[in-house]
Amino acid sequence: MPAARNGVSELHGLYSKLRTVQNQLQSAPRQMQARQQITAGKQAEIDATKEKIKKLKLSADQSNLQVKTNEAKVLGLKVKLNQAVSNREFDALRSQVEADEMANSVLEDEILAAYEKLDRMKEELTQFETELVALKAAETKLAQELAAAEAGLKAKAAEYQRFIKEAETVIPGEIELAYRRMVQQQGPDAFAAVEGNQCQNCFVTLPPQTLVELKSGKIMFCKSCSKLMHLAPREDRD
Ligand SMILES: [Zn+2]
Repeated sequence: MPAARNGVSELHGLYSKLRTVQNQLQSAPRQMQARQQITAGKQAEIDATKEKIKKLKLSADQSNLQVKTNEAKVLGLKVKLNQAVSNREFDALRSQVEADEMANSVLEDEILAAYEKLDRMKEELTQFETELVALKAAETKLAQELAAAEAGLKAKAAEYQRFIKEAETVIPGEIELAYRRMVQQQGPDAFAAVEGNQCQNCFVTLPPQTLVELKSGKIMFCKSCSKLMHLAPREDRD
């Protein structure tokens, strides 16, 4: 046991370290969850892109079918055109043929644009899928890292708890109940360092008598904020 003025500063340090380790242990599932959300987001992007590709392809296929229907119609009209018996009939048929050919030309432009867009979307999809593979690999890596760290952190927490148990032998019996309740609820926040003549939690100036008692090794609570006091922090031990 390293020398400390009254052991309380050591307890304060140990409870702080224990809390840090406990926070790290608790943050692991959140880190994992955040990672999983990113992966799920990418998967959703992929699903949405696939759906868009499907719809665009369906629309292009329908336009293609429409072009073929129109072409057949134009062929039929051209047969009639050759058999036209009057100029009037010929002109009417010719303007119908022209209109249908124009409609097909517009449709063909649209189909071409749709295929170009499909190509771009497929490239995008490939990119997203590559990103998803990388994200899943990162997720696996993080899970492994967290699992590997967990054992070490748990061992560290157990070690700090052991040190705390040893250090707690300095707590006098008459304040032990109050002390237990405080450290259970507040951990390292149950303690307050005293610097100069001030409690560093509530910044109330302590009476000279209290300082004398603290320096003599007496363990006591701050009358103002009820924290367990100790003189200015000693060097922390790892
Ligand atoms: Zn105080």
